[in-house]
Amino acid sequence: MYLKQYENGRTYIAKLNYQSDLLEEINKICLDENIKAGWINAIGAVSSLKLGFYNQETKEYVYTTYAYDEAMEIVSCTGNVSIKDGKPFCHIHITAADKKGKCIGGHLVGGTAVFAGEVIIQELLGEDLIRDTDEETGLSLWQ
Ligand code: ZN
Repeated sequence: MYLKQYENGRTYIAKLNYQSDLLEEINKICLDENIKAGWINAIGAVSSLKLGFYNQETKEYVYTTYAYDEAMEIVSCTGNVSIKDGKPFCHIHITAADKKGKCIGGHLVGGTAVFAGEVIIQELLGEDLIRDTDEETGLSLWQ
């Protein structure tokens, strides 16, 4: 188990630009504002959605990426900020619904186009939260 205590720092609210890249924009905020640890929450809609999937059997850093080229509502988009390779890194998962309410979800990767995006980022202050390769899973996890 891994347990650390943090205090709330700055709170950011962002309205993302139409057709911007959802992951890139959130990453940019964290880099520009030097948010080293935090909590990310977003809602809105996307014009297209790109998701990743980690293969647990092969335990390789390979993502199978699915592309959905249709408008969807962001039902939930949540993630965290920590430090990877010496700079802020956002790890975000998303659930989105089509016009019938059917949801899909997964690991957010670059290539998702924002239709409307409302983001809240809560900075957390405390000990550095650093990601590095985890031998058991092959993932880059908190150390
Ligand atoms: Zn993930």
